[in-house]
Amino acid sequence: MSFTLPELPYAKDALAPHLSAETLEFHHGKHHAAYVNNLNTFAKDDSSLVGKSIEELVRTSSGKVFNNAAQVWNHTFYWNSLRPGGGGEPTGAIAAAITKSFGSFSAFKEKFSATAAGHFGSGWAWLVKNGEALEVVDSHDAGCPLTTGKTPILTCDVWEHAYYIDYRNARAKYIESWWNLVNWDHANKQL
Ligand code: MN
Repeated sequence: MSFTLPELPYAKDALAPHLSAETLEFHHGKHHAAYVNNLNTFAKDDSSLVGKSIEELVRTSSGKVFNNAAQVWNHTFYWNSLRPGGGGEPTGAIAAAITKSFGSFSAFKEKFSATAAGHFGSGWAWLVKNGEALEVVDSHDAGCPLTTGKTPILTCDVWEHAYYIDYRNARAKYIESWWNLVNWDHANKQL
């Protein structure tokens, strides 16, 4: 197998009650895994994929290879954007950077939530670093800020599969819960 599914950085039930073990079972064990499996299938017919990192594929591929590689990268980044007992106010350098770019944490939170809630269809909301400034952006389907020269800091998956088991159609409630899980240590490492 050329590509492997990264382990979750915590137990499947560790994000409850915000995200259930069942959601992680499906989201990591089925959806994230399927993108990895697809890449391995493609690699059987295209040996140029073998030995490349996921990030390299995201930066250099297109079509179905890009879609699956970017979904692998985005999901790994998403799991690391969350942690049990996360959330609350940001700490460290990210706290100062958020205040500098958005005026306040609450202004950032409002903008990020509105972007995640307002994204039409499947995609992602991101906090990214663009030069010295932080920005909130969204991406469609498998879109990944790595291809636009921006540095991902945090992400929220807004594909329906991310929230339908726990929240059904209520994306806004899922986004509220996402704030209770944010891994600020991860955000600080990306700066
Ligand atoms: Mn997903």
